[in-house]
Amino acid sequence: MAGAKGIRVIGSIETGQEILQRVDADGVFVGMTGNWISIEPLIATGAVDVFAMDMNCSPPSLEEYVPKYPTTFVSVSPLVNIRGVDKHIDYSPENVRSQAEQIVNLAIENYRRRKGAGLKIPTRVQSAIVGFSIESILSLLGGSLNPLLEAIKSGQLKGVVGLVSCTSIGNGPHDVPTITVAKELIRRDILVLSMGCGNAALQVGGLCAPEASDLAGPGLGSLCKALGIPPVLSFGTCTDTGRLSILVSEVAKALKVDVPDLPVAVTAPQYMEQKATIDAIFALAFGVLTHVSPTPPITGGARLMKLLTEDLKEITGGSLLLENDMVKAADAIESHILAKRRALGID
Ligand code: SF4
Repeated sequence: MAGAKGIRVIGSIETGQEILQRVDADGVFVGMTGNWISIEPLIATGAVDVFAMDMNCSPPSLEEYVPKYPTTFVSVSPLVNIRGVDKHIDYSPENVRSQAEQIVNLAIENYRRRKGAGLKIPTRVQSAIVGFSIESILSLLGGSLNPLLEAIKSGQLKGVVGLVSCTSIGNGPHDVPTITVAKELIRRDILVLSMGCGNAALQVGGLCAPEASDLAGPGLGSLCKALGIPPVLSFGTCTDTGRLSILVSEVAKALKVDVPDLPVAVTAPQYMEQKATIDAIFALAFGVLTHVSPTPPITGGARLMKLLTEDLKEITGGSLLLENDMVKAADAIESHILAKRRALGID
């Protein structure tokens, strides 16, 4: 009736990651745009009828976009109150069908308003394999962790790093530090499991596609080619760290060692938000070397710095690595992983 050929749903930020993990891309759900900094260029295409925001880091700066672009902004969570956004359809599970209809109707109404306006839609499309979980990794490995453990023991795989990150422009251009550290790690035969807005960076950057195995070191590259997987496994959102810790615990159990003894680490190369801070604190308590950048405002506290970078090793086994140069960060993570391998007698 409005003249459009149909409706498309495109994911954004972590809600987009959740959909991407659970819904097959078809003619209606067509994938994901990227992380929170990608919202502004997305709106600037002029092709978005409704931008529905839940509590996943919707930036207050969108206020400036409301009068400028032909998009209807809707908050679907009482926690999202952005100035200039006056449409609120607070999610309630029992009313979700009618709420979805309201949002679709807003989109149809908006399409009438913007029809004929100029569009600036980029043509680049990047494919990615997503939705890795403990279950899917086990199934890829034939039902047991043994092939992964053997690859670690033989040195084909030096270790595993969980990349759990936001994105920021506090330590470099949008997504560049995240992509740099991931490329450096896979080049050194270290498998990366990615979560959070950094996960979207790696999907958009092509590292979650099987062809990225050409960028990996010879050991990881050959493992990826044998299994048909990318060297960066897209593991979900910034709230999926619990699932990752279960996988790490299973590896520790299978090797009959404690988590701090494993050749693993965590990196948050562009952390920004409180959820990421909690993830880092969790990783430290879990007993894992945790790289964080940009440098958080803690360096003035001498006793806190000593606790996080030295004493914690004797308490939980974890320690904090502050490094804003991503090549040096990958060097430090690799050294840590090699030291753990030596201690386990598998070097
Ligand atoms: S906490 Fe970080 S990773 Fe999670 S949605 Fe916000 S910006 Fe993205």
